[in-house]
Amino acid sequence: MAAEKTTGIVLRVIPFSETSCIVTLFTRDFGKVTTMAKGARRPKSPFEAALDVLALCRIVFLNKNSDAMGLLTEAKLERRFRSATRSLDRLYAGYYIIELLNSLTDDGDPHPELFELSAQVIKQIDSTEITEEEVGLTLLNYELKMLGILGHLPMLTKCVSCGREKTTIARVSFGLNAGGILCGACRGGESNIVSLSPEGLQFLLEIVGGQIGEQSRNSDNWNGQRQELLSVGENQNSQKELDGRESFSGVAGQSPDSDNTELLESDATGTDADRCLKEVRRLIHKYITHLLGFQPKLYKFLGNL
Ligand SMILES: [Zn+2]
Repeated sequence: MAAEKTTGIVLRVIPFSETSCIVTLFTRDFGKVTTMAKGARRPKSPFEAALDVLALCRIVFLNKNSDAMGLLTEAKLERRFRSATRSLDRLYAGYYIIELLNSLTDDGDPHPELFELSAQVIKQIDSTEITEEEVGLTLLNYELKMLGILGHLPMLTKCVSCGREKTTIARVSFGLNAGGILCGACRGGESNIVSLSPEGLQFLLEIVGGQIGEQSRNSDNWNGQRQELLSVGENQNSQKELDGRESFSGVAGQSPDSDNTELLESDATGTDADRCLKEVRRLIHKYITHLLGFQPKLYKFLGNL
């Protein structure tokens, strides 16, 4: 049984006995780990205030191999999540990140990049680095980066089924099952399709490409899709003139709102950017719900963001 040191974000603390807790953390080096914290509920706990949900702490734990629960032996608080007393919206945003980490990652499957990202975003949400109005966009950025790191980023620049390049500027069909946009020919046999406006798709691509929100991203996947977007953009007009034979977004007699397609509810209020943000957040929420097989509990509390 090895004593392991790492840094973790506290995801869950469940009282186990009068004196002990079961603590789940998302750690930098070991992914999600669940440990027993003996004495954590005593007045003079060896863990002091470290074991609060959303806190970042340095821990030492005995990592039992097999399925047995590890034993937490030390936890030192690095940073507490303070928004609980200041803003309910920021608190819900923090809880939502916790819920995503809990449900989209597996025990003992480390993703250091996701750990760093999560710690950074939790810090931003908990500080004046971003305004209350920016929390929604910050969450969307986080969701998309997380999907990218975990290999679930949807295909957005060409048909996910046949690979046909997107060459038109019309509404597109986004297949929740297929995991990306679908051309007119491939859309027919698919269920769970959401219709996405051209502005929404553009907005989504710009976030993925790092043009909205934070400035820099290093992942090849993100930059690759951005490059493809640029090349699609350059070709858009010439392609349309050259090529009358097939439209990406539709085949004859099939409109985007045909039977198997769901239109995201339209929202007439706010600026264009607000509308795009809302449309894309609804799409990504549907996509994540589809991936998980259930709707995250926190969705209903994110309405103001
Ligand atoms: Zn296709």
